[in-house]
Amino acid sequence: MDRGPIVEIDLEAIAHNFRIAKKITGNRPIIAVVKADAYGHGSIEASRRLVKEGASYLAVAYAAEAVALRQAGIKTSLIVLFDKYDINDYFKYNLVPVIHDIKTAQVFSKEAKKRKQGISVHIKADTGMGRLGFNIDDLEKNINAIIKMDFLTVTGLMSHFSDADLSDRSYALMQLDRFNKLKNTMIKKGLKPLISHIANSAAVMSLPESHLDAIRPGLMLYGYSPLAAEQGPRGHSSFAVLRRTEGAKGPSIKIRQTLESLLRPAMTVKTKILSLRKLRKGSPVSYGRTFITSRDSLIAVLPVGYADGYSRVFSNNSDVLVRGKRSPVVGRVCMDTAMVDVTDVRGVIEGEDVVLLGRQKADVITASELAMKAGTIPYEILTSFGNKSRKVYTDGS
Ligand SMILES: *Cc1c(COP(=O)(O)O)cnc(C)c1O
Repeated sequence: MDRGPIVEIDLEAIAHNFRIAKKITGNRPIIAVVKADAYGHGSIEASRRLVKEGASYLAVAYAAEAVALRQAGIKTSLIVLFDKYDINDYFKYNLVPVIHDIKTAQVFSKEAKKRKQGISVHIKADTGMGRLGFNIDDLEKNINAIIKMDFLTVTGLMSHFSDADLSDRSYALMQLDRFNKLKNTMIKKGLKPLISHIANSAAVMSLPESHLDAIRPGLMLYGYSPLAAEQGPRGHSSFAVLRRTEGAKGPSIKIRQTLESLLRPAMTVKTKILSLRKLRKGSPVSYGRTFITSRDSLIAVLPVGYADGYSRVFSNNSDVLVRGKRSPVVGRVCMDTAMVDVTDVRGVIEGEDVVLLGRQKADVITASELAMKAGTIPYEILTSFGNKSRKVYTDGS
């Protein structure tokens, strides 16, 4: 047996979410974010599907991720969000670097001149995220220098939101305001970036005025909303609602939930029961004896542990689905195994399918639910599973 759970990726769900993003942004060009192996979904497969669906650009964090996509035959424009090393790769593989400082701009210009090969770049401004990007004042000061740089063409201007996921939109609106002012200053000085983009998933879903020339979603493409932590009600949906909502507080919780309910999670994580144990009432389970059976119990041992992305924080603190029934994780999650109480599940057998994340029959365990239990965000749940497990792909089932 290979180690770890099986991660099933539904590529049609990713395509569906892409179409939702298109629809709620009035058909804006999409820069699909596929960093960190497409949030654990497999960057090559996800990218191919996103390109087929009409993604204008793909964005990754580091150059090596872009090189892997080129080597897989992907020809779409690739934006590298964070990296500034491996400069040769940008020329060899035709990648678009995001420039955060004047020194890096000079390095790229010099290399481009040496090669007599022009390079197109996007400029990033820090409007309040406090991560990477030109300080706004520095950028205004340096625009003239950037315009004059040989063989370097600025084709995009971008920034990133710090908290567009909050229902209080005041900080995000302040960032957007800074961004728009900066863009106007640049245009006045003669630099006309072709596209300006700032909207991550949260902004795509809740801040229509930030959609600008292109949107840059990641998480929502994989079926989750960064907005509401709670599960939304299923059912009636209205795209019109989003556009009508212009109030300072942003869309209500209800609208947020409605939007989330339109998305379709693409990842399911499964394993099989390794062993079934009958334990008498009063028996301890796993390291530290943190769980003692309160009745004669049937305990399933799963061949999945924290080394496989099933965090130790799920010890006595999560459920899995067995025969469509929620069964609690009991005792501590180990490195390679975890135990669940299946006493109440009828007819369970060894080798039986277990769902750690995703739907089984009428019930579902979402990455948002696991994130809440683990005190983290769905992003980390998806990448923890996805980047450690074998993946299988379905398209349209
Ligand atoms: C990760 C990332 C995104 C996508 O964010 P989501 O919240 O997943 O939509 C967009 N832009 C930048 C710069 C990022 O790092």
